[in-house]
Amino acid sequence: MKVTRVPAYFFQIEVTTACNFRCFYCIGRSWQPRHMRMEQFEVILGRLPNGRHTVSLQGEGEPLAHPQFWSMAEKVIDAGFIPYTITNGSLVDAERMAALFPTVGVSLDTLDAEEAERIGRRDLPRVLRRFDALCRAMGAERIIVHSVDLGQDLTPLRSFLAERGIRRHVVQPLQHKEDYRQRYPERVSSLSKSVPGGPCSYLMRPRMRFFDVRGRGLPCPYIKNPAYYRSDDELRRDFAAAMIPSACAGCGEIGAATP
Ligand code: SF4
Repeated sequence: MKVTRVPAYFFQIEVTTACNFRCFYCIGRSWQPRHMRMEQFEVILGRLPNGRHTVSLQGEGEPLAHPQFWSMAEKVIDAGFIPYTITNGSLVDAERMAALFPTVGVSLDTLDAEEAERIGRRDLPRVLRRFDALCRAMGAERIIVHSVDLGQDLTPLRSFLAERGIRRHVVQPLQHKEDYRQRYPERVSSLSKSVPGGPCSYLMRPRMRFFDVRGRGLPCPYIKNPAYYRSDDELRRDFAAAMIPSACAGCGEIGAATP
């Protein structure tokens, strides 16, 4: 009998757009904070295909700010999926996190408390205390640190992570997409809107689905105005006709897919 393997997908569910930080590069800080309703969360979870997929509780807000965050994580496990999240670290309950999450992401951009405040990342000493508690509870190999590259010197942070044995450090650039860029127009230029050079890997080789706080399914986490989005196929048709869809204008992922 032929066994068809279902590839492992990454599903990202934006459980909240509320946050206790004010990071200048976070588009969610321009929005009214909103929590996803549990009923909505359960509907999304119930419609996901079977398989050992990762379901990340993650979006334009601090996931742990959702009052039902822990119940949501338990529901992900009960449904047979692997839970993940990226937290700003300020609200972490290390023991509980270690008990439920095989791996957890923590966002840290700097070890300089003044620079952290300028970015909008509050009370860095408290974050670092909780981070160390998380390292003790989970072990370094289960932690992934995510940083946004703002041009800051990352050397001290890299040394700090190396001292703790953390090897997975993901550094991402500021997104050029217009709806993001309007929060920091002086920091990144507008990307060319002319020759697309092909769509992104999200459309070429779909391996993820993003569900925003209202439950809308999208091909990637970067489409922030769903009024421009109708379907993945429509986006692909635009790219095939050498046009950049409005939903994707300025996106740094365009042309990043290798054939
Ligand atoms: S916004 Fe960017 S990543 Fe998302 S579908 Fe468009 S080109 Fe791809």
